[in-house]
Formats: sequence, structure tokens, C-alpha cells
Amino acid sequence: MNGYSGITIALSKGRIFEETLPLLAAAGIVPNENPEASRKLIIGTNRPDVRVVIVRASDVPTYVQYGAADLGIAGKDVLLEHGGAGLYQPLDLKIARCRMCVATPAGFDYAAAVRRGARLRVATKYINTARAHFAAKGVHVDLIKLYGSMELAPLAGLADAIVDLVSSGGTLKANNLVEVEDIMPISARLVVNQASLKMKRGLLQPVIDSFESALS
Ligand code: ATP
Ligand code: MG
Repeated sequence: MNGYSGITIALSKGRIFEETLPLLAAAGIVPNENPEASRKLIIGTNRPDVRVVIVRASDVPTYVQYGAADLGIAGKDVLLEHGGAGLYQPLDLKIARCRMCVATPAGFDYAAAVRRGARLRVATKYINTARAHFAAKGVHVDLIKLYGSMELAPLAGLADAIVDLVSSGGTLKANNLVEVEDIMPISARLVVNQASLKMKRGLLQPVIDSFESALS
């Protein structure tokens, strides 16, 4: 627990923060500052009992798991890698939507490589999701963990393919890569610390309910 008697909400900067603002507004919560502009990591809101902490997207589940934040908003991609231990996931917020896919250089015959049973080198930030996907298909892969710019890996000769998130496809196209397999649709979920939900239900449930009504 975090020793703060109000609600602490963990958010990441960028699209998650921007797309969460209307949901927060529906719950009567308006952050006092924009994290892009202020560099502050703890941001107050119009409500004295609600604050926002700004963390790396992949750290949101960890803050909520340990109760350093009561609520958080994290992409399904991030939650699958984290594993979801200790997290209650009541709502698909349908924001930050994209898809997880396999992409290769435009000239690479992925289907033929898979048919031959070739051992593919796949670079990705999403090791767990990629491992599960290729295991289910019976495709042999060597996974190479990266932390960003997956698109570069096949171009630089590090890997045959990547597993990455795509929305418009613009970045793939700009790097002469093509999507060869769709793995799953991705969107952001509300995550709740299970102990917080018991101890602060009076504060948390109305926020969860407001998010839910704002979705429909
Ligand atoms: P960082 O950019 O700090 O390395 P990140 O890439 O995980 O971290 P963001 O780019 O802010 O952080 O992405 C946050 C979440 O938004 C991702 O976890 C994913 O769920 C979603 N997302 C990522 N890329 C896209 C995209 N192209 N379109 C829509 N949603 C996306
Ligand atoms: Mg990013």
C-alpha cells in the first residue's frame, strides 16, 4: 500500500494519458497538469483525494500489483508480458487500439520458411506473447529481446521477422516491411489492485462505474 488515503492512478505519457482524459472527466477527475509539459511524475487533480502517477507504460502493472497505485491503465500487450498477477482487470477501455502482428521484409517468403520448418529468428519486445504464438503454430523460433525500434532488426540483419504493434502500418511501410500474420487485437485495460478494491471500495467503485458508463 502507498500510505496515501485517496486514489492513486498510474498512467503512461502519450496516447494512454491523452485517451484516458475523457474517461477521467466522466468520473469528474481533471488532472492539474499535462505530463508532457510539466515533467512532474506525481500530478494532482481537481479532486483532493485523487492523484495520478506517471510511469513507463510497461511499469503500470507493477505499480498496481504492489499497491503503489490503486488503479492503472495498461495495454493488453503490456499485461500479457507482465502476467497479470495480483491485478483485477474489470474493463476493456477500448482505447490505444492497435494489433500485435508478425512482420518481415517485403521480399521474405514467410509462408515458405514456415512450411520448410526453418528456424526463424524473431526480434521483439513481446517475448512471452511471441513465444506463445509460435508454440501454438508449431513454428521453431529463436527469440531476440529488444526494447524498441523493432523495425530496424530485419533491416540490419539481426532477425528474419519481428513481432510488434501496428496501427496504421505507416512505420512498417516506411521501412519496407509487411505484416505477414495477425496475432491479436490490442487495447488498453483498466487494472485494479485487489487489496485496494477491498479497502477503498467506496472511493474506487464509483470511478470504475463511471469509466464503464462512459464506454457505452
Ligand atoms: P515507450 O514508448 O516508452 O518505449 P511504449 O511503446 O510501451 O513505451 P507507448 O508508445 O506510449 O509506450 O504505448 C503505450 C501503449 O499504447 C502500448 O502498450 C500499446 O498498448 C498501445 N500502443 C502502442 N503502439 C500503438 C499504436 N501504434 N497505436 C495504438 N496503440 C498503440
Ligand atoms: Mg512507443
